Amino acid sequence: MKYIKTSFRGFLWLLVSAIAAAFWGCGSPSGKPGAGGIAISFDDHFIKEWYELRPLFQKYNAKATFFITCPDSLNAEEAAMLKQLEKEGHEIGFHGTVHAKSTELMAAGGPKGYIEAELEPGLRHMHAAGFKPTSYAHPGGNHNDRVDSVLLAKGFTTLRDVAISRRKFKGFQLYAWPPRWMNAIYYAFDGRQKVDALMIDYDEVTSEEIEEAVREAKENGTALMVFGHEPLYAAPSNGKYGFDVSFLAAILREAHEQQLKFYTMSELPNIK
Ligand SMILES: [Zn+2]
Repeated sequence: MKYIKTSFRGFLWLLVSAIAAAFWGCGSPSGKPGAGGIAISFDDHFIKEWYELRPLFQKYNAKATFFITCPDSLNAEEAAMLKQLEKEGHEIGFHGTVHAKSTELMAAGGPKGYIEAELEPGLRHMHAAGFKPTSYAHPGGNHNDRVDSVLLAKGFTTLRDVAISRRKFKGFQLYAWPPRWMNAIYYAFDGRQKVDALMIDYDEVTSEEIEEAVREAKENGTALMVFGHEPLYAAPSNGKYGFDVSFLAAILREAHEQQLKFYTMSELPNIK
């Protein structure tokens, strides 16, 4: 029984590899020699928690992009923290006003309805607080070409989607895809504006996998793109979602050791 199970798994693995090779091509994308880097981003509204990571960022001279949602609830203290992060080289991006499914807003109200519900109110608050976001992270990774074209027309230079290495269903893992094979999470400095970042929240990626992914970016001269949510100091409880701070520290340490450059999301398409 065990043998059958193993060989079936092996067969599935072969099948998946064959499909991946056919669709994604073999080997990682190649970027620019010497430009190898990492672009880290954080989503939602954990401003105070992110701000507390500053000593860690400073230790490795790292910069990141913070994608803010619900900016109508940005209080003066939060705005000041984001200003300080910006001053220290980090980027403040936008992550929607109501964090809704953009494809549904678009289907219901067309571009006008989508813009009025999800983009304009939040952007007004961001502007009033002194921020001019030029990168956008799709809430829930939900978007389509119509949504993208509205965002590009609004002037966003980078649109960031979500890439997941592990897919679970009712607690069972359906597959685990090694990040070093996920071509989409490496930026090849080709001017691409629509990008994917690998989620690094709890249970998404192992330390070995992320170290391999960092080295992959270094070897190929690409930029590895990763993102997470709330910084956590213990396993998540009560429906919390976020990443282990020590896991982030390990990524920063490895990136620093490999002498990777830290990029913010809006910088990527502008590097020639
Ligand atoms: Zn989000």
